[in-house]
Amino acid sequence: MRRLIALLTVALLALTGACSSDAKGSSGKPSVVASTSVWAAVARQVAGGHADVSAILDSPQQDPHDYEANAQDKLAFSRATVTVVNGGGYDDWATKLASSSSTVVNAVEVSGLPGAGEDGFNEHVWYSPTAAVQVATRVADGLAKADAANAAAYRENLITFTSKITALEARAQQIAAKDTGAGIVSTEPVGAHLFAWVGVKDVTPEAYVTGSESDAGPSVSAVNQTESLMTSGRVRALAVNPQTSDPVSDRLVASAKAAKVPTFDVYEILPDATMSYTDFLAAALTSLSKALSQ
Ligand SMILES: [Zn+2]
Repeated sequence: MRRLIALLTVALLALTGACSSDAKGSSGKPSVVASTSVWAAVARQVAGGHADVSAILDSPQQDPHDYEANAQDKLAFSRATVTVVNGGGYDDWATKLASSSSTVVNAVEVSGLPGAGEDGFNEHVWYSPTAAVQVATRVADGLAKADAANAAAYRENLITFTSKITALEARAQQIAAKDTGAGIVSTEPVGAHLFAWVGVKDVTPEAYVTGSESDAGPSVSAVNQTESLMTSGRVRALAVNPQTSDPVSDRLVASAKAAKVPTFDVYEILPDATMSYTDFLAAALTSLSKALSQ
């Protein structure tokens, strides 16, 4: 919590130094374009109604990892006042397109998380509240620079956003106090930063994790090894990415069910495009703690 307050101070200092350079879209408002709906949701909470915010990918059927950008996406990025990309190899198509924009917020780069951007770093940083506050701060800064008339509103929205995150921090600590070290398994390593936040241990075998990120998928022995964990008594829940279900993850879900191991969902794209980021994070905490208490 102390860390978040420190972040907020940095945010305010950044905004005080903002100046006007008026880069506005056709609606007369500045605009934010994000690679995915989760980052757009962060930006939307900062923008309030003062900036247009859109995401390139907002359908759960789209996979940000291997999306290929089109001419329309390129145009959207080039017109944006602020662009938000995840970075860390997650959405290289967006990182490439965003390089032409004046203010680029790269979530992995600004996250401040240990090892960010290095080999083996888990790039799904939207589950890190620290990364989200850093992104929100940079977005507020970029918008205030382009739209000085609304700088105070962006600053206020950022304070509201950060205090909502701080409230969630308290809930995360409650889960941590109750369930520290609880073992869970993931069909894909999407929720790693969420688990680190609440002190839950992902015990998915390394061979499975590496395999699940390769084109070939995990080997039969890695899947068998993961499946046998379900009946080991060491696993309290299975984290599932419902947006990329395949035969392997379906099999793990079935074996979790058979062993009465509860499942809960983690996402790459907002399950509901109209959801706020803080509601998304709150829902993640709720479903994780529900699964752990079953
Ligand atoms: Zn992923």
